[in-house]
Amino acid sequence: METITPITQDTQHTITPSVSDAEVQNALRTLLRAIGEDPDREGLKDTPDRIMRMWKEIFRGYDAEKKPRITTFKNVNREEEMVMDCGEYYSMCEHHILPFFGRYYFAYLPDPDGRILGISKVARVVSYCAARLQLQERLAEDVIEMLNEALKGKVRGFAILLRGRHLCKTMRGVRNNGEMSVSLYTGQFKTNRQLRMEFLRMAEMSK
Ligand SMILES: [Zn+2]
Repeated sequence: METITPITQDTQHTITPSVSDAEVQNALRTLLRAIGEDPDREGLKDTPDRIMRMWKEIFRGYDAEKKPRITTFKNVNREEEMVMDCGEYYSMCEHHILPFFGRYYFAYLPDPDGRILGISKVARVVSYCAARLQLQERLAEDVIEMLNEALKGKVRGFAILLRGRHLCKTMRGVRNNGEMSVSLYTGQFKTNRQLRMEFLRMAEMSK
């Protein structure tokens, strides 16, 4: 039986209560002044508060209490077939605090002696891990790590492909289309090229 070791150490992210709402709002007011704005004008006076509340939502991935509970089931039928899921994700790049977003394609190979993932939970895991300042590569790692943990490492392999568009590339600098693909394979997906091709073919079909 194969055990996949987590790719990254579990990160102990928590929303820090040590920064007060007033401090956050003052900092945002300073940033508004820095770009030449008047934080007291009508249209902007509620913006710092609005941004602060939005950040609490879009960065909930630092809050351990918001961590989704992942349902798993005993593999009673000893399933071994590849199980796939895909959907959308939205995240923020850690270099520019600008959005990057796109589609994810996920697959795993159940262990007949292990457990089965409640596949609908994958989307929640992706969305939770994406709710942090991220890199596309680390987002892939974080998702796999969390799902591997839920299966207690009893899985024959994971595959994840993230297609993403980065606003920090499309809005500024080189102004290319900012598209980027990242993939990560573990277990049999890593050693078996055939399986990888099948995964990529299915990802292509559900584009
Ligand atoms: Zn960036």
